[in-house]
Order: sequence, then structure tokens, then C-alpha cells
Amino acid sequence: MAEKILMKTPLVEMDGDEMTRILWKMIKEELLLPFIDLKTEYYDLGLEYRNETDDQVTKDSAIATMKYGVAVKCATITPNAARVKEYNLKEMWKSPNGTIRAMLDGTVFRAPIIVKGIEPCVKNWEKPITLARHAYGDVYKNVEIVVPGVGKAELVFTAEDGTETRELIHNFTGAGIIQGMHNTDASISSFAHSCFKYALDTKQDLWFSTKDTISKKYDHRFKDIFQEIFDKEYKEKFEQAGITYFYTLIDDAVARVMKAKGGFIWACKNYDGDVMSDMVSSAFGSLAMMTSVLVSPSGVYEYEAAHGTVQRHYYKHLKGEETSTNSVATIFAWTGALRKRGEMDEIPQLCVFADKLEAATLGTIESGKMTKDLALITSLKDVTVLNSEEFIKEIRKTLEAML
Ligand code: NAP
Ligand code: MG
Repeated sequence: MAEKILMKTPLVEMDGDEMTRILWKMIKEELLLPFIDLKTEYYDLGLEYRNETDDQVTKDSAIATMKYGVAVKCATITPNAARVKEYNLKEMWKSPNGTIRAMLDGTVFRAPIIVKGIEPCVKNWEKPITLARHAYGDVYKNVEIVVPGVGKAELVFTAEDGTETRELIHNFTGAGIIQGMHNTDASISSFAHSCFKYALDTKQDLWFSTKDTISKKYDHRFKDIFQEIFDKEYKEKFEQAGITYFYTLIDDAVARVMKAKGGFIWACKNYDGDVMSDMVSSAFGSLAMMTSVLVSPSGVYEYEAAHGTVQRHYYKHLKGEETSTNSVATIFAWTGALRKRGEMDEIPQLCVFADKLEAATLGTIESGKMTKDLALITSLKDVTVLNSEEFIKEIRKTLEAML
């Protein structure tokens, strides 16, 4: 066998929980360690160790990500009341993804993995549509009042020096409801930078949509900030890369997306992104075929699968029963991170390896060998359903034949 590929800078490796933790280990042993002299700085984000360290390990892993620039993360449990009991937790620790996202100030980009035999419901979608969702503010940080009856509602801003700006919301003649929400220029700017950087990185057009015709100050501010940043810092780079930035109204965007071929990034405000990402991902087929990358405005990357820890399969695994859990999105988290590391450190072999591992993964599925979730939705005939481990071993065979 050829010599192992050497790395320069370590990847930040964030281990996780349950079934995905099992897959994580298999992927490393079967698909990475035999081929790469893998350098990682390991952080155990499994719930037990998060609890043991009072969640300090999550913060440390985010700091390491800022230091090295690229991380790969396994799915992790976000504790709820049941998990507090199950793991005997000191506290209901926050979502690691939330903590990391807040520290890196990043935007999450989600893209489907396209493979022959798993056709999207929308027949003209030939290429992936990547969704970028702004992850701060608007209705997710709102304040609301139930208006009991007659009265006046106003919007008031009090400046530091005490000056007040007022707008009448409504003169209520009966009961009703009010909602107040906000966003900040800083957060919108970070979102814009992350989107422009990611578009350049992946050489895809960027679409951005809001409802600025109706929301003439609020949504318009989003539109203006994007345009200012684009004109000042990205316009020429986009021209050189042969890609475009395109702003349109959200309803127009929805209509165009349904008719499009795909192959672009769609940036959405927080609520629009919440709704549209579920629509786009389910139309592409399976959560197990969806990747996710967090990109900070300073150009730091954290790759992961979009799905969770696949708890139901894990309990079967614990009982000694066979599982058929799809490892594709987790494999693609690794290839995304390795390719980025290769680009940053100028190690072309690492990028080539990432490409080949992805091709071997897709090739295995296209040859009719897949996990149960895909077997249920594929248009291929005569498929072989493999268990979790067999599927990874089959990918290794395909990969070895390619190398
Ligand atoms: P999940 O892990 O995404 O799984 C939900 C269901 O989707 C599974 O039961 C399975 O369906 C199917 N599925 C998801 N991924 C699959 C895969 N790779 N292969 C085959 N089937 C797959 O969501 P969950 O069970 O609701 O959540 C479990 C834990 O994950 C929770 O504690 C949650 O906090 C955490 N979570 C973490 C992240 C993250 O770290 N990014 C994201 C979401 C959730 P069937 O059972 O029908 O086979
Ligand atoms: Mg949602």
C-alpha cells in the first residue's frame, strides 16, 4: 500500500454521542487511519465528559477551532429532562452546537448529498441547493404582549442620552396582540460575510431574499448591509470566480427555487431559513444525506452531519441487535474538513483523498449497496441492504480499488 498522507496542522476533532459515536470510531479505523497519518486535537463532547467538565470541554473545543481553523464534529445529545435523568447530569447543559455557534459567531450552511438512485421530489433539482440560515434574532428573540382591550401600543427607543424615538404601532379598539423584535448590524454583517465567503469557497452563486417591500426599514436593512458589504469587499472576487450575488423578494425566491436546477446557496433570515431548510432537505430525500458546515465571518470552519445521534438505533445496538445506520453525512463531515485542511495547508493529496472517499461512498450506493434508510427510498433495483459496519467496509473496498 502507498505511504500514508502526512498532515501539517491538526484538525479539531469533536467526538459525540450514541450511534454516531459508534460510527465515528468505525469511520476513523476503516476509512481514515489506514490512509492518512491523521493529526487531530481530540475533544470528547460526549455527554458524560461534558458533564464531568461542567461543559468546559465544549468551550475549549470552540477555542481550539478558532486557533486551528477547521473542526469536524460528531452529533451530540442536547440534554432535556429525560437526558438529565438518564445520564445523571449536574445540569441541563446547553446545546453544544448553540455554544459553538455563539462563540464562532457563525452561519450554518446545509447541503444535500446527491447520489444516483435517490431522486429529489422536485424533478428539476439536478444539483444541491445549499441553505444558509441567519441564526440570530428576529422572532427567535421576540417579546410579545397579549393586549386585553382598548389602548395604544407604541414602539419606543431610548438612546443613551435619554432621547426617545416613538412610533405608533396601533390604536387598539379591542383585544389583540403585539410583537417586538430586533436584530443588530453586527450580526447581519457577520451573516453576510459568512455567506459571501462560503459562495467564493464553493464557487456557487449566492441568492438572498427578504420581504423589503413590506418591511421597509427592518428587512431593508438586511438588504442594504448585504449590498454594501458585497460592493466593498466581494464584487471583484465574485467576478473573478465567475459567480453572482442575486437579491430578490422571498416570494419570488421561492417561486424561482422550485423551477431552478440547483447548484446555488440560498441565504435566508432566521425564520425563513428555519422553514425553507426543512422543505429543501426533505425534498432531497433523507436527513442522513445532509451535511452541515458552520462558517465564521473570520473564515473558520466546523463540519458535521445534519442529523442527530440516532438514539433509536443506539438502543438497538446496546441490546446487541443489528443496526443499519447511514454513515454518509458523517463521512462527508470528515471529507469536508480534510479537504479544507488540505487547501489551507497546501496538501493537494489530502484534497484528492477527500474527493476519492466521497466518490467511493457514492459509488458504493450507486452499485446497489446501501443502508436500510436509503433502500426504502431508492429507485435502484436489486439493492443489498447492509448493516452499519458492512456498509463502511464496503466503502473501504471501493476506495482501495480506486487508490
Ligand atoms: P436523529 O438522531 O436525527 O434521528 C431521528 C430519526 O431519523 C432516526 O430515529 C432515524 O429514523 C432517522 N435517522 C437520522 N439519521 C439517520 C442515519 N444516519 N441513518 C439512518 N437513519 C437516520 O434525531 P433524534 O433521534 O430525534 O435525536 C437524537 C439526539 O440527537 C437527541 O438527543 C438530540 O439532542 C440530538 N441531535 C443532535 C444534533 C447535532 O448534534 N447536530 C442534531 C439533531 C439532534 P428511524 O428510527 O425511523 O430509523
Ligand atoms: Mg426547524
